[in-house]
Amino acid sequence: MRLDFELRLSNPPAPMLQAAVLDKPKWIVRNEMENGYTERKPFIYQTHLTELQGTIKSRTARNIRKTVSVLFLSIFAWVIISNSPAQENSVRFTDANGETIAEVPAQLQEEQIYLSVDAVRQVFDPDMTDQYNHPRKRLTLKTKDKQIRLQIGNPVVSIDPGGQTRTLPTSPIIIEQEPMLPIAFFTQILPDFYNLETLYNPSLKRVQLRPKGTWTPTGTGDSINWAIIIDPGHGGTDDRGCESSTGLLEKDIVLALAKRLQRMSEEQGIKVYLTRQTDTKKTHFERIQVAKRNQGQLFLSLHCNASFSPHEKGIKIYLNNPKGQLRFPSNAQSALTGQRLKILAQANFLKQSQDFAHALQTELNFLTETPVKITELPLVALSEAYMPALVLEIGYLSNVEDLEKLSDSEYIADVAQAIVRAFQRHISSINPPVRSTALEQ
Ligand SMILES: [Zn+2]
Repeated sequence: MRLDFELRLSNPPAPMLQAAVLDKPKWIVRNEMENGYTERKPFIYQTHLTELQGTIKSRTARNIRKTVSVLFLSIFAWVIISNSPAQENSVRFTDANGETIAEVPAQLQEEQIYLSVDAVRQVFDPDMTDQYNHPRKRLTLKTKDKQIRLQIGNPVVSIDPGGQTRTLPTSPIIIEQEPMLPIAFFTQILPDFYNLETLYNPSLKRVQLRPKGTWTPTGTGDSINWAIIIDPGHGGTDDRGCESSTGLLEKDIVLALAKRLQRMSEEQGIKVYLTRQTDTKKTHFERIQVAKRNQGQLFLSLHCNASFSPHEKGIKIYLNNPKGQLRFPSNAQSALTGQRLKILAQANFLKQSQDFAHALQTELNFLTETPVKITELPLVALSEAYMPALVLEIGYLSNVEDLEKLSDSEYIADVAQAIVRAFQRHISSINPPVRSTALEQ
């Protein structure tokens, strides 16, 4: 799905692309969900890629001397980098809200990330003490009344008192005469001592730490019986949504995500209803009916994006705000009065929609380098959902990097997991779970 107003040529097609568009007007403009959205199928990107590649090739031919020297420099740089013993890097530890606890220097060796002993102090316990026995290559850490013993070159970790042992996927090693601990020690072993849960994003080198179990909805006592409506956009043969140059269809991506979300949410005790279970066409009215019939407390519509600009990328969240940025054209005023009233009815849920949008933003930010944007707009498509409602666009099928992610089922699973965490975050902010500390007081 694309939003019509977003299209206002902030990214006018480059002259070359424009020519391609004129040559091959293969994209189709279609009104979606009555008049809330305008859907545009991206034109054949492959064409542009081929044309762009052609241009690049001829330019390369003209600038061959320049290219050779750049290549030479790159090889030179590569030789220097690959000969150094370990690469400098850093890992960022954040709290549950994405705020940085510490950014610690890391060493990369044979594609494994290692952190220094000092990182334990910076992230977990400033009072931790350590002792390293050089001849025996034995490292002892003392934290939280526990004594943790590690051996260089040995993946087994012993913990006293209790004589417990845990095995790391990689062993501690020595880099520049210093004992270094594999990242798994920080993501799998240490959090247990501090009653924390971790999320690890290896590609962005981020670790998120959060109190254990605090977000699981209790499902007992006064807590509301939560029902969430997931709406996979589009469906059927004539409403396929956006399409990538590789033939990946928006309707299929969002349905796969929705099904995964349903399964994962229900494992956490959150009831989820889908507006479509299969590849079928559903009207906007039918989708809202599913939400009403099941007394949903949250409506989340899933889509993918496409843009004329191949650079446009990232996850976007749209929420229905009748006072959002859309300006109605003055001559269409009278015709839209009825819709305006509908949009205003949704205003009662604005605060909750905003809260949920922020929960979703916090969780999804963990997955991306580009921060997730929230936009408030009057969305006719959501106006009759009498519950907090959002549209989530999980990426651009017209962008090479986004397309690669969206084609990867593991990435889709990560997105689903982040959304489930956002559900938990949102639900527990409304129904704070009973915590043991509260009982003790
Ligand atoms: Zn869509």
